[in-house]
Amino acid sequence: MLSVVLATRNPGKVAEISSILSGLPLQIKSLLELPELPEIVEDQDTLEGNALKKARHVYAQLHQPTIADDSGLEVYSLAMKPGVLSARYAGEGVTYGENNRKLLRALSGVPFPQRKARFRCVAVFKGTEIEWSVEGVCPGSIAEEPRGEGGFGYDPLFIPDGFDLTFGQLPAETKNRMSHRAHAFFLLKDILREYVNKIG
Ligand code: IMP
Repeated sequence: MLSVVLATRNPGKVAEISSILSGLPLQIKSLLELPELPEIVEDQDTLEGNALKKARHVYAQLHQPTIADDSGLEVYSLAMKPGVLSARYAGEGVTYGENNRKLLRALSGVPFPQRKARFRCVAVFKGTEIEWSVEGVCPGSIAEEPRGEGGFGYDPLFIPDGFDLTFGQLPAETKNRMSHRAHAFFLLKDILREYVNKIG
C-alpha cells in the first residue's frame, strides 16, 4: 500500500476523493489527521498555483506523496470571475449565501444565454521527483435565483448543461458523477495507477 496525504481539512472533500480513488492500493490520510501541520494560505493568482502550493508545502513537511486541489466557479460574462476568489468573492469570512447574492447582483439583467459558466478543479499529485497536474471542468449556466437545498457553495445557482435543475436540486450522486472534481480525480486516478505500478 502506498501512503498518500490529501492536503485538505474538508471532510466532504476527503470522503468524495477517497470514494473516487477507492480500488487503488492507497492508504489515504488527510490533514484532519495531522492537526499539527500549519494552515496553508491560498494566496496564489490561479487555481493551479494554489493546488501546487498546497501539494509542495505538505510534501516539504512530510516527504510523502501528496494530493492537493483547488476549485472555483468561472462565469464567462464576468471575465471568468469569481474563479480563484470563489470562496471569498464577497469578502473574507463571508457565507455561501453572501457570495451567491453578490454573483446574482453582478449578473442582474443578464439574459440566460449570457449566463454561461463552468466549475473548474485543478488536482495535483506530488511524488518523489514527479509533479502532475490535471484539470476537470463542469459546464453550465447561472440560474436567476437560488434553487434547492443540496450541496454547498454556488450549487443552488449552478445548472449543469443538459439539466433544468441546479446542483442544489439534483441528487448528490448525480452531481458527484459529473462534477469538476470527479472529472479531475478520475484523470488523477489513472496517473496514480501508473505511478503505483511503476514504484511497486
Ligand atoms: P475548493 O477549492 O474546492 O475549496 O473551492 C473553493 C470555492 O469554490 C468554494 O468555497 C465554493 O465557493 C466554490 N466551489 C468549489 N467547488 C464547488 C462545488 O462543487 N459546488 C459549489 N461551489 C463550489
